[in-house]
Amino acid sequence: MRKENEGLVHDYLICSDSMECPLCGKTHEVELRRRKAKTIVKKEIVEYEEEYYRCENCNDEENEFVTAKLNKKNLLNARNAYRRAKQLLTSDEIVAIREQYGLSQLDLALLLDWGEVTISRYESKAIQDEAYDNILRSIKKDPLLAYEYLEKNKAKFSREKYDLIKKSIDENLDEYGKEYLSRKLLESNYVRYSDPSDMNGYKILSIDVLECVISYFAKRVSNLYKVKLMKMLWYADALCYKRYGYAITGLVYQHYDMGALPIGHRAIMDLNNVKVVSEDGYDYTKYHVLPNETLNLSVISAEELDILDQVIKQFKDVIAQDIVDYMHEEEAYSLTNYGEVIPFSLAKKIRDFQQ
Ligand SMILES: [Zn+2]
Repeated sequence: MRKENEGLVHDYLICSDSMECPLCGKTHEVELRRRKAKTIVKKEIVEYEEEYYRCENCNDEENEFVTAKLNKKNLLNARNAYRRAKQLLTSDEIVAIREQYGLSQLDLALLLDWGEVTISRYESKAIQDEAYDNILRSIKKDPLLAYEYLEKNKAKFSREKYDLIKKSIDENLDEYGKEYLSRKLLESNYVRYSDPSDMNGYKILSIDVLECVISYFAKRVSNLYKVKLMKMLWYADALCYKRYGYAITGLVYQHYDMGALPIGHRAIMDLNNVKVVSEDGYDYTKYHVLPNETLNLSVISAEELDILDQVIKQFKDVIAQDIVDYMHEEEAYSLTNYGEVIPFSLAKKIRDFQQ
C-alpha cells in the first residue's frame, strides 16, 4: 500500500543510540529496529510495523525492550493498520482534515457537535466508528458541508473564531462553491419575500438576472461605484415596473438617507460573480464595480435590456451625489420613512427621464 513498504526486510536496523540499557544496566549503543508484527485490535488480528530496542550484551532469550514512548508509537501503528484494513481514516489523515480547515482538535469536535475530546482521542488512541468516519470524509471533500456545520453550531464559537474558520473554509472552496455560498447568503436575506408582491415588484429575486444587470451597467458606465449602482438598480426595477407591471431583479428596496437601498446590499457586493475592487485612501472604502464577461446575458429579455439602456443613458455621466439628490425628489422617497420598504406601487410613480 505505502511505497516505503516495498522490499521491506522482515527485521531491520533503523539506527543505534547510546542510552542507559534497562536490560544490562550499562550505558551503551542500543539498536533501534523495526519488524513486522501481529497484534489484536478490536478482536481482530492485524499486521503492523513494530519498533523495538535490542541489547547486544544480553542473551537471545531476553534482549529486547521498548520505552513508554515507543510503546505508544507501536499502538498507534497497530490501530492505523487496523484502520487501513477497514478503510477508515488513519490518525494522520484526521489531523490533515483538521489542518485543512485550520482547526484545533477542540474546534473540530465543536464544529461537528461531538464530545470535546473526541478528536483528540481519534488522533491518539480511540478508533472512530464508521458513522464518524463518514462525516470526517464528507467535510474533507465538501467545504460547503463544513460551512453548514459551522452555521449550525455557530453559537459554540466566538465571533473571532467563527470568522477565522469561515475564512479557512472559503479558501477550500472552488469557484462553484464560492458562488453557491455567496448566493445562499443573499437568499437568506430574501426568505420573507419568496412570493411576488408589491414589495419585490411582483418578481421573485433572480440572482442570475441581478448579476447580469450589474455587469451590463458596469460595462457601459465607467467608474461605477456601489452607491450609484444601487440607485441604478432601483431605477431599472421601478421603470420596468412602471412600464410592464413587473420588476427586473426581484430586489426589495428600503428608504435610507442616500435613497433606495436593496436589502442584502452587502451580500450583493459579495456575490462571487459580481466583480468588485475595493479602493482605499478615501474617507471610506469605495467599491468599484467591474463587468464580468463570463455571464450569459440571455437571462435578460429585450424589453428589460431596453429599460437598462434608458437608465444608463439617464445616469451614465451623473455623479453619485446627483443621482441621490434626484432620487430624493421621488414620491417613493418622500412618502416613505427611514428604514421602510419602498413599495413598487410608489416606485412606479418615478418621474419620466429627460429625452
Ligand atoms: Zn544492554
